[in-house]
Amino acid sequence: YRAKALGKGRYTLFDQEMYEQTLRLTQLESELHYALEHGEFELYYQPIIALSTNQLSGFEALIRWKNPKRGFISPIEFIPLAEDTGLIVAVGDWVMKEACHQLQDWMRQFPEAAHLKMSINLASHQIREPDLLDKLDSILAQTGIDGSSIRLEITESTLMDQGEQTIKKLSQLRARNIQLSIDDFGQGYSSLSYLHRFPINILKIDRAFVNQMSDGGENIEIVRTITVLAHTLNMSVVAEGVETQQQAEILKQLGCEFGQGYLFSRPLTAADAELAIAKSINLSQVS
Ligand code: C2E
Ligand code: MG
Ligand code: MG
Ligand code: MG
Repeated sequence: YRAKALGKGRYTLFDQEMYEQTLRLTQLESELHYALEHGEFELYYQPIIALSTNQLSGFEALIRWKNPKRGFISPIEFIPLAEDTGLIVAVGDWVMKEACHQLQDWMRQFPEAAHLKMSINLASHQIREPDLLDKLDSILAQTGIDGSSIRLEITESTLMDQGEQTIKKLSQLRARNIQLSIDDFGQGYSSLSYLHRFPINILKIDRAFVNQMSDGGENIEIVRTITVLAHTLNMSVVAEGVETQQQAEILKQLGCEFGQGYLFSRPLTAADAELAIAKSINLSQVS
């Protein structure tokens, strides 16, 4: 309607843009298909640390796309496009399988690692998808891992978008003991007053707040408030993007249970994550 108001000539421009956008998406869709079939995706694993003990508590699985022509493509670039094409469901299926099989493998190798949790990002399409529960059931059955070992991360906006249907789906996930996290909390305009309606276990504070915490800064008060709110609702708190020792100290004092960020570790390849597990087991046996 906007193009119309600007006169006839603008129609063409608008159509041209739409056409190019569609073409780009179609091309990307086939590239993503190809990438899935040819193993161009890889999961990295970023440690999540219990702040009170400094022990490894689990990992967040983070997808990487290594495209032979275009090189490394960040999920920040291709995940939104995968969502637009709908191919996020196929990509997300691969992520869930890969992450759970990896966890199963680690649990087999390291019986002492049975407590580790695997966090997996879930796009909003995936929540809406009717087969999600069946898929998860079959992954859990195949790997033999318990629902309580996995955590699904859902962004605040996904949660707020979708109303009653989402609540029902989330409850079905909880019935399998699967844990649920709100990702990037604080980024949306979340209706704090809605939060108690969702069966969420963990709140992940967006790294924007964590990063800007300095002594006496107002972000400390925001993080404190979020932490108190989460605890009131029986949720644990993970701080994202912890980069300095000072931030870790403040977070610990605020009662935030877990931290994730470059201070502890960057996202690791599966091989390096395995070394991190082995190291954390040895450390806990020494102490
Ligand atoms: P996210 O779920 O909030 O993941 C955390 C992001 O913060 C990751 O970026 C991680 O590498 C980065 N990060 C961790 N610690 C620090 C830190 O100390 N400083 C800074 N500056 N950054 C830190 P990454 O891996 O590039 O992923 C970006 C986003 O892409 C994710 O944000 C998530 O929304 C999406 N994503 C990644 N993998 C998947 C996936 O398998 N499925 C879906 N649906 N989305 C994914
Ligand atoms: Mg996440
Ligand atoms: Mg996040
Ligand atoms: Mg994020």
